[in-house]
Amino acid sequence: MKSENEPTILVIEDEVPIRRFLKVALTDHGYAFKEAQTGQEGIAKIASDRPDLVILDLGLPDLDGLEVTRQLREWSDVPVIILSARGHEKDKVEALDAGADDYLTKPFGVHELLARVRVALRHAAKLATRQEDPEYRFGNIRVDFGTRCVFVDEKEVGLTRIEYKLLLTLIKYAGKVVTQKHLLKEIWGEEYGEESNYLRVYMAHLRRKLEQDSAHPKYFITEAGVGYRLKVE
Ligand code: CA
Repeated sequence: MKSENEPTILVIEDEVPIRRFLKVALTDHGYAFKEAQTGQEGIAKIASDRPDLVILDLGLPDLDGLEVTRQLREWSDVPVIILSARGHEKDKVEALDAGADDYLTKPFGVHELLARVRVALRHAAKLATRQEDPEYRFGNIRVDFGTRCVFVDEKEVGLTRIEYKLLLTLIKYAGKVVTQKHLLKEIWGEEYGEESNYLRVYMAHLRRKLEQDSAHPKYFITEAGVGYRLKVE
């Protein structure tokens, strides 16, 4: 039986030192740890063990992590955090667009790992309960969904329709990275997957209107070569 307060995390990774590092970091922080060394074994364990979260390396000896993500998403909504090497932005973007939830770039630290895990688990729990809050707060910013008003230090800030939509989409995935393609499709529709210059423009507007120092954003973070993240913790 799976304990309610001890989420199970399945790590699919062929490199022993990384599995060992993850095992120590995760079990030390109250997570139950399971492991698999290949993509096939990982998929089988997701089906049999029903983990609460999967940490998936992109470079595996049999199936690559991207293929594992694609296969898995046909039947499972389990949150997936992918591991990838620095400089492999294209692989990350493909995996995120295939349905992975977030990524960690090797080498990563315990703090970053735990933050990503918390965000992914929280997001999954929120989707499961379909919790609808009337408002959303981060830092000194408050968004009232009913009236569509946005406040900075309780002073109302006017946003255009597109700016508001972009903000809502980032809030929907708060803490997680959202790829450019995903944002474009969600805001402008299917046919706008490549127009990343639109995003840069509107992200600059949001930063100017909502950030204290738009040149050094605290909340609206660019993940180079991948997309954007609303940083809320
Ligand atoms: Ca590997």
